Amino acid sequence: MAKFRGPALFRCWCMPMPLNHKSKRPNALLPWLVGAVPVLLGLVITYWQAERALVNDGELIGSETVEQVERILDNVSGAAEELLPLAGTPCADAQLALRDQVARRPYVRSTIIADQGRLYCSSLFGDFSERLNAADYVDGRVSLISGNSVTPGRAVLLYRTHRDDSQHHDQSAIAALDGTHLINTLRTLGRNNDLILQVGPSWLSADGQVQEQALPEFDMAPVTVQSTRYPISVHTGFAAGSAWQLMASRYPALLALLLFLGVLAGLICRWLLKRAHSPPAELQRALLASEFVPYFQPVVRSTDKQWIGAEILMRWQHPREGLVRPDLFIPLAEDCGKIVPMTRSLMRQTAALLGPQADRLSEQFHLAFNISAAHCQDLALLDDCRELLAAFPIGRIKLVLELTERELIQPSDITQRLFAELNEIGVMIALDDFGTGHSSHSYLQAFKIDCLKIDQSFVAMIGVEALSRHILDNVIDLCHKLQLQIVAEGVETPEQGEYLAAQNVDYLQGYLYAKPMPGADFVAQLPRH
Ligand code: C2E
Ligand code: CA
Ligand code: CA
Repeated sequence: MAKFRGPALFRCWCMPMPLNHKSKRPNALLPWLVGAVPVLLGLVITYWQAERALVNDGELIGSETVEQVERILDNVSGAAEELLPLAGTPCADAQLALRDQVARRPYVRSTIIADQGRLYCSSLFGDFSERLNAADYVDGRVSLISGNSVTPGRAVLLYRTHRDDSQHHDQSAIAALDGTHLINTLRTLGRNNDLILQVGPSWLSADGQVQEQALPEFDMAPVTVQSTRYPISVHTGFAAGSAWQLMASRYPALLALLLFLGVLAGLICRWLLKRAHSPPAELQRALLASEFVPYFQPVVRSTDKQWIGAEILMRWQHPREGLVRPDLFIPLAEDCGKIVPMTRSLMRQTAALLGPQADRLSEQFHLAFNISAAHCQDLALLDDCRELLAAFPIGRIKLVLELTERELIQPSDITQRLFAELNEIGVMIALDDFGTGHSSHSYLQAFKIDCLKIDQSFVAMIGVEALSRHILDNVIDLCHKLQLQIVAEGVETPEQGEYLAAQNVDYLQGYLYAKPMPGADFVAQLPRH
């Protein structure tokens, strides 16, 4: 016979926990995982949204900066355009006009004109001569330099306009813009991010430095906005962690909601898991999975040791715990109201197993079921008994219901009717564990008890010592006086069997004759008896 399992299950019943302690780990983790899902998903979506927002911010700021720089350049280029017709005229004639542009235009710091590729007249110095290198100007128009002889180390942007035709040979007008205006623009518009103004190979950052090395890389949301009117572009981007900062500042309510949803999802998951693994739910699952199966323990006649019947004992064939003893789950099944359908299932399985084998059973073969008090509270038990009896030819079996003396039934109109009708259809009532409880003579009569099952604790007294045996003798004597059939349970040794037979105990049950066995084994052994 399969080995009983128990302690792990028992622990579980004591603390309403999942049945299998091995499964506790994933179950404990699951609520955390479920709680983390909305939080993580929400964070990913919010982060993605924050990144998009940064890109949008970057594009907006980049465009605004380009527009602002274009406005400044419009002003500067206007000066150069107005001065170009003066290129080629003597410096003395042009100088006033050069200075006039500086005075009237807010962004123009100085102006210069050039003829035949040579700079020859400046608003600052008047006459001078210097070669004009057109290649220094991006697109021939704009040049960003880190400083000049007047203000070394201070950025200057030069705007050049140029004409070269049959009448005018390589003439230019140049207006210089003080880099401070550009730096102020980069600083004002780039409060939350870095802005860089690029002109050809040179670039200017908000710290006022003009550099020519490779552009620095932005950690997040890099954006480049190109001017359509001037050969300049603006680069912007954000430092690492900007998306998290944006999330915290822009969506605090959303983050709190995510956290709340995560906690809620975790708690709901935990509650569902607990409910799914609660003892009642586990019993219900096992019932639907037909895991409660009947084991059969023969009862023998004391005179010739022939099988005159069997007690049907419930076993739980648990998928992980193996075969579970009834005392580990019957009390709980009684507490949570599952014992009635479980007993019904046992009766149906017994009918299905033994019904077809009815002709191999001796006449009036006793089939004894253990019945809990809860099953006696309405007349449903009557239908269950009728259903079982209907599976056998009339008179072939004797249905016995064992009521334990440990749990006495409260008499009521219903129980009176129930036991009267059970008696009518020929069902025998046995008082189980006799001697351990407090049944009275009136109780035995009220429930029409036909048979007493002497508890195995009394049988175990045989051969121990004289005083104990006297107690047993008294119990047997009481049984005889009540004139009821007697079954002795838990007979383990030949000495116990012989003693009980000598005391005229009618029927014996115990490991000495047979242990409880699965239905197939029981059926297989039937013909021999
Ligand atoms: P019980 O009704 O007193 O059943 C007799 C118990 O004694 C059985 O234990 C049986 O296996 C065991 N037994 C039989 N012969 C011997 C023996 O020689 N030596 C010893 N040491 N034990 C022996 P089991 O099957 O573990 O059942 C325990 C109890 O669980 C039962 O005690 C009964 O109260 C309850 N039970 C079992 N099946 C059902 C059921 O279908 N419904 C209800 N309500 N209770 C049940
Ligand atoms: Ca019993
Ligand atoms: Ca018993």
